[in-house]
Amino acid sequence: MNVDTVMNDLVKRHPGEVEYHQAVREVLESIEEVYNDNPHFRTAGIVDRIIEPDRVFIFKVPWADDQGMVHVNLGYRVQFNNAIGPYKGGLRFHPSVNLSILKFLGFEQIFKNSLTSLPMGGAKGGSDFDPKGKSNAEIMRFCQSFMMELWSNIGPDTDVPAGDIGVGGREIGYLYGMYRKLARENTGVLTGKGLNWGGSLVRPEATGFGCVYFAKEMLATRGETFEGKRVAISGFGNVAWGAARKVTELGGKVVTLSGPDGYIYDPEGVSGEKITYMLDLRASNEDIVAPYALEFDSAAFVQGKRPWEVEVDIALPCATQNELDGSDAGRLLANGCTCVCEGANMPCTPEAIEKFQEQQILYAPGKAANAGGVATSGLEMAQNSMKINWSREEVDERLHHIMKNIHGNCVKYGTGRDGYVDYVKGANIAGFLKVAEAMVDQGLL
Ligand code: NDP
Repeated sequence: MNVDTVMNDLVKRHPGEVEYHQAVREVLESIEEVYNDNPHFRTAGIVDRIIEPDRVFIFKVPWADDQGMVHVNLGYRVQFNNAIGPYKGGLRFHPSVNLSILKFLGFEQIFKNSLTSLPMGGAKGGSDFDPKGKSNAEIMRFCQSFMMELWSNIGPDTDVPAGDIGVGGREIGYLYGMYRKLARENTGVLTGKGLNWGGSLVRPEATGFGCVYFAKEMLATRGETFEGKRVAISGFGNVAWGAARKVTELGGKVVTLSGPDGYIYDPEGVSGEKITYMLDLRASNEDIVAPYALEFDSAAFVQGKRPWEVEVDIALPCATQNELDGSDAGRLLANGCTCVCEGANMPCTPEAIEKFQEQQILYAPGKAANAGGVATSGLEMAQNSMKINWSREEVDERLHHIMKNIHGNCVKYGTGRDGYVDYVKGANIAGFLKVAEAMVDQGLL
């Protein structure tokens, strides 16, 4: 396999899908050597087969607002690969959603899900619908219309969607309600469900918790802990919330949060009642970052900037893709940051990653570090199948164990001759090998 040749063909076939190209190139560069060392992968055409989704559904989602005006959005589901288990991956509702972003996310999901060691394939979906500023009734009508089209293509043993940006517990509720009515079954077809109707304890905070567990393991390789460390977090959503809680619990101080318009700098730390306030603001469905700075005297809102200019020891990007570029990386390094662990999917650009790795600081990609979310979704599926509920401690312990295991696999496949751990390479190789071998075992499909 030659990466440039494969990429040229892919770009020709799917012009303009830049996020998708970026994600595929990164994986291919990591696995090139191991792929070429295993001729049975080439014979089975694994690369050509794994970089294209199995299928993509695109559909119209008509819905009426509270004034009776009709709107039409696009809905998508990208079923990428199900060699090791049912398709699994979140739904994103955000105006930026397009096929390229969902293909990048679905592709990444294959390797992330493989890393969890649970039987889950890769998928992603969503819509260009913007939930911001919409009433509950509007959100419900949109979710119902979305599910009316999607339901026949998913199922507890075929494709199990979950939340992502813009899709939290409320949206999962409306989506699940409509699925249940149409399919006439109460099953684990979505994860992130409410506790009273099949959800798992710890799922809401699992991605953020898992990311911090992963960072804890990375720090331990250098004899460090979170105790007393200053931490920059971006985003103000589900992942940022879980990460802020766990960092605080482990003795670190979270000094930033952010939104698309700027960031909050709170040198006294985002903890206790501030985290509760953050949760309340999120539930309001309105613009949320600036009001936080008004509420707490210790905090300032820095408009139009990213949090990466603040002096911190650890950075946890938890908002969205490509939110930390080469110049942000330069600033973080100049300020003494020694650990970057991705809560979001692909938040660091390739230039930023190159800088981190050149300086040999600890850097972990989202596909390893944020796998705790989907891992706990996997645990929710297991509980649904067995029709039992595990305790908070039991789920958290399993999550912790899974994150440790993923870290161990990254170290196994990513440690170079000089002892530096390339977590990108480690995650990509470990995730890839399992899926590739499964595809070989199962024949040409
Ligand atoms: P949420 O919608 O809960 O939160 C996203 C946050 O990021 C919001 O505060 C949003 O602000 C902010 N944001 C969006 N765009 C930008 C931007 N351009 N610059 C700065 N901030 C921005 O989503 P999640 O927390 O669920 O997801 C965050 C990331 O984590 C995504 O990359 C997602 O794919 C990934 N992820 C999520 C998992 C999960 O379990 N939820 C699992 C694994 C990965 P605003 O609301 O004002 O737009």
